[in-house]
Amino acid sequence: MPTAKAYAASSPTSALSHLSIPRREPTDRDVELDILYCGVCHSDLHQARNEWSAMPTVYPCVPGHEIVGRITKVGSAVKKHKVGDIVGVGCLVGSDQSCPQCAADLEQFCPHATFTYNSPDKHGTAPVTYGGYSSSIVVDEHFALTVPANLSLPGVAPLLCAGITTYSPMRRWGDLKGKKVGVVGLGGLGHMGVKFAHAFGAHTVVISTSPKKKDAALALGADEVIISSDANEMQRHAFSFDFILDTVSADHDINSYLNLLKIDGTLTLVGAPDKPLPVSAFGLLFGRKRLAGSLIGGIAETQEMLEFCGTHNITSDVEIIPIQKINEAYDRLLKSDVKYRFSIDMASLKSE
Ligand code: NAP
Ligand code: ZN
Repeated sequence: MPTAKAYAASSPTSALSHLSIPRREPTDRDVELDILYCGVCHSDLHQARNEWSAMPTVYPCVPGHEIVGRITKVGSAVKKHKVGDIVGVGCLVGSDQSCPQCAADLEQFCPHATFTYNSPDKHGTAPVTYGGYSSSIVVDEHFALTVPANLSLPGVAPLLCAGITTYSPMRRWGDLKGKKVGVVGLGGLGHMGVKFAHAFGAHTVVISTSPKKKDAALALGADEVIISSDANEMQRHAFSFDFILDTVSADHDINSYLNLLKIDGTLTLVGAPDKPLPVSAFGLLFGRKRLAGSLIGGIAETQEMLEFCGTHNITSDVEIIPIQKINEAYDRLLKSDVKYRFSIDMASLKSE
């Protein structure tokens, strides 16, 4: 069995460190890629530290689902890609491609979806799938996305999760031109939400806990910034938003954000804190408001998002790190100390 170099967590409390992992030989429909960059999503940290009770972590855990790489091998039946192509791989590496969800291009809701890490490995290469903190990966060609040639690759990697996770619910909401859109939390997801809302022509408002992020939020394309601890500011904007995207990774009070929605407004959760969030019924009743959720996006929509980014020259703002800095990066992520996404330069794995 071929092997790849990787970084893995061996328990919820251990630092990530080097590990050699098995990777299958490409089957007829597979492509193999050398991973060039991998973004660091807060989900990687949740999973590495076993923070999601609904999705217990199987160790060793190799996180990483914001992957950009160059194809090195293709199976005999591969049609979509060829050796040398630059492709992206996000949170999905498999689905049954026969259920109603797959037929509707919603592979993320397929009952047999295989996620890029910590999913049972249907090929039997390992007990679970191993993600992008590694030198290479083998995936079914359907799950490898074409990357627009004009975009810078370190900033493309985060589009494969943070990008599609924020693009999809905004697109689903409808035409945001001229609408008042709030983005709660200016992190990896949040800053992509701001870029998309701005590109869609929305009046874009960042709602942040961090006063020090104000200028940076305006520079990203926000029209206004609300600091959520400022009760007067929050009151001034009450009952005024058409749509709010909540990207917060930690336990928080969503009722104060629901209060910002106008009649028939929607708040969509994409942040994934483990603890249930209490919701005031009256907060929804008065204003006929809607509380929704959204999970990444299907493969066709992810490709659409990449094309949109190519046309509008949108990438993620990244700080490039070597893999050896990943544990420090996790600590900094928890302190919101990154503008706005770490992107791992996978060439750094070669020295392990
Ligand atoms: P991140 O970069 O750490 O950003 C999260 C932001 O939330 C922080 O920058 C901070 O923004 C805000 N925040 C943190 N703690 C808070 C608190 N206690 N109260 C209010 N705001 C707080 O994380 P990310 O990578 O963007 O991921 C965000 C969440 O989305 C994670 O839970 C992740 O697992 C989840 N996720 C979901 C999907 C999906 O498909 N639904 C996909 C990817 C990730 P401010 O400093 O501006 O307040
Ligand atoms: Zn992610």
